Amino acid sequence: MNRDEILKRYNLIEDNINRIKEKYNINYDVSLVAVSKYSSIETIKEFLSLNIDLPLGESKAQSLRDRVGEIGKIKDNVKWHFIGRIQSNKVKYIVKYADLIQSVDSIEIAECINKEALKNNKVQDILLQFNISDEVQKGGFTADDYIGVYENIMKMPNISVKGLMAIGKDTEDSYVIEEEFEHLNLIYKEINKKYNNTLSILSMGMSSDYELAIKHGSNMVRIGSSFLGNS
Ligand SMILES: *Cc1c(COP(=O)(O)O)cnc(C)c1O
Repeated sequence: MNRDEILKRYNLIEDNINRIKEKYNINYDVSLVAVSKYSSIETIKEFLSLNIDLPLGESKAQSLRDRVGEIGKIKDNVKWHFIGRIQSNKVKYIVKYADLIQSVDSIEIAECINKEALKNNKVQDILLQFNISDEVQKGGFTADDYIGVYENIMKMPNISVKGLMAIGKDTEDSYVIEEEFEHLNLIYKEINKKYNNTLSILSMGMSSDYELAIKHGSNMVRIGSSFLGNS
């Protein structure tokens, strides 16, 4: 994709976000992650040539590593978010290259990240991924014991929990998706009430459902197919 098309898409998404914020009287920032997982390296370079300061999102440890290497040669201040399923044997690459790991979905993976971050002399920023709808194919903590999960991971010295993340259910029924987003919003508020507003990121919403997510409190949307696309 060329830079004119990318710029057009970016402006459209930003306009949409602003319109949605007005519609629901939202006065805090809603940030955008440019999900680059489907895009070619050429498209990513075209995007970076626009100097729009957004983090890039990758969902595979291998591509994260390769792309940080490739892009690092031309630009060194790009931020990378990891948004995919985490396998424990890939944690070392993810911790090495990700500024924010959005998809921490078990205590075991958090322990792995904590260990690896210590080795790298780093405090790793993460989000806890929740699977509110309990879809089997999706990762994430269930909603039952979120305080226990948070307290457990919060104590890990080389991890800093910045917020929560969820992927909306893949359904045409927007009411189901809204319920899910609202549920995570309540968990987010509950943790913040109990722990002195410790969380600042509620990451919900992708190409097809970011309006619903923002309506229910999201302050970070992750857009792939309708932004950097799949070529
Ligand atoms: C792929 C992906 C996205 C982007 O999805 P689109 O529907 O292409 O916008 C966002 N979040 C996560 C976790 C993803 O895996």
